[in-house]
Amino acid sequence: MVKPNISLLFVLLFMNFCFSQNELPSLEGKNVLVVYGGWEGHQPEIFAKKITSWLEEQQAVVRLEKGTAIYTNTSVMQKLDLVIQHITMSEMTTKESQGLIKAVASGVGLAGCHGGLGDSFRDNTEYQYMVGGQFVKHPGGQVTYTVEIGSKEDPITRDIKNFTLHSEQYYMHVDPALEVLATTKFSGAHDAWIEGAVVPVVWRKPFGKGRVFYNSIGHSKEDYEIPEVWSLITRGVAWAAHKE
Ligand SMILES: [Zn+2]
Repeated sequence: MVKPNISLLFVLLFMNFCFSQNELPSLEGKNVLVVYGGWEGHQPEIFAKKITSWLEEQQAVVRLEKGTAIYTNTSVMQKLDLVIQHITMSEMTTKESQGLIKAVASGVGLAGCHGGLGDSFRDNTEYQYMVGGQFVKHPGGQVTYTVEIGSKEDPITRDIKNFTLHSEQYYMHVDPALEVLATTKFSGAHDAWIEGAVVPVVWRKPFGKGRVFYNSIGHSKEDYEIPEVWSLITRGVAWAAHKE
């Protein structure tokens, strides 16, 4: 009879416990491209460096790039697990756009926040179709607003309570096929006709074989210091880096 290996059993039980506590898989060894640029008002380099150092702490293999030229480098793009983009407005060439869209459709994840993913390349509807929404206005500029978490069970939103912040409340035109994880309601104090409108703040969606994650918060670097915001972003990044 084979004697049961008690210590191995304990290790397996502990691993199972850890996994059940956090269903988001590890980023260790994942190839991540962080791309930044565009409108300087969003301090793209500060966000790019912050997320890069967090990714390195998670043992991901990170490549940091300024500008979209890298999207045409197929040998780099096809080896990636995830692209994190922070480029507000700006433009990219058709070839760059095709390089990014093809990579995501083939299974590379795409994640980002605020204008860096949701207000990029305003004339590029193929890009917007992939992301699933486009910023159109933040009525009132900096306002105090509440983010309502939709599911307390989802690994991205688990144990995160509704929270209030003072920043830009993004009014977005969105894809009805999104999986919405958090929303915000507009008071109508600025632009009365939108009173009561509920707009997605955090969503995820598939695009071909790739996973897309978006969070509309992040106008200033202070927004990323809000624990709920940083948890949503980093958990969304971990989710998007894994294929279906
Ligand atoms: Zn902004």
